[in-house]
Amino acid sequence: MLYKNASPIIVIDGPAGAGKSTAAREVARRMCLPFLDTGAIYRAITLIMTRDRIPAIDSSELRERLRGFCVSFSDRRVLVGGEDVTEAIRSPEIDSAVSPYSALPAVRESLLEIQRSQASRGLVAEGRDMGTVVFPNADVKIFLTASPEVRATRRYLERASRGETVSYDDILAMVNQRDEIDSQRAVAPLKPAEDAVIFDTTCCDFEQVVNRILDECLRKR
Ligand code: C5P
Repeated sequence: MLYKNASPIIVIDGPAGAGKSTAAREVARRMCLPFLDTGAIYRAITLIMTRDRIPAIDSSELRERLRGFCVSFSDRRVLVGGEDVTEAIRSPEIDSAVSPYSALPAVRESLLEIQRSQASRGLVAEGRDMGTVVFPNADVKIFLTASPEVRATRRYLERASRGETVSYDDILAMVNQRDEIDSQRAVAPLKPAEDAVIFDTTCCDFEQVVNRILDECLRKR
């Protein structure tokens, strides 16, 4: 797909379980663009902080740790200072700890440059504030939503397919709690950009979501 802009920036925001990651990864593959999962970066920070027992409050200790933070992506793996944390950042402990760290302005500021620096060749980026804060001039802005029950079911199936023992009710409660913190925070809350296309995926399968996003990219190119 040829773009006027040789390095298009496509952003996909939305709440947990809306299908952003899988759809964004596939859109990136079909458009031959790099893919950026910004949730993985917030999760990686959370892993480092919780391991070092640094609480989710602004402190000199937290700021010091942020200065030394270095994340990279290689072949679908997430590396922090060379350590592969791909599985560790998807644990239930990180699920429940991530939103309070993500709400801290110091954390968000420290990650801005890391995220923007990935866009030199264009990209498909997914997260919560891609269209509003990180890439306000993105070529295409999509906001994916779905009912909390459908989102929790998707997360449940994802976890179960990895062989994890999980409770649907616990996942639904977690999804609701994260959405609440993510949308109520003062800095970069979860919300659609004014110029985003809002797409409810409750009744859609994966192919329909991907095709809808690709249609939007075609329309804007
Ligand atoms: O997308 P994922 O569920 O992996 O994101 C984990 C958490 O990271 C979110 O619940 C949110 O607190 C935080 N996040 C964020 N801004 C982003 C991406 C993720 O605050 N751009």
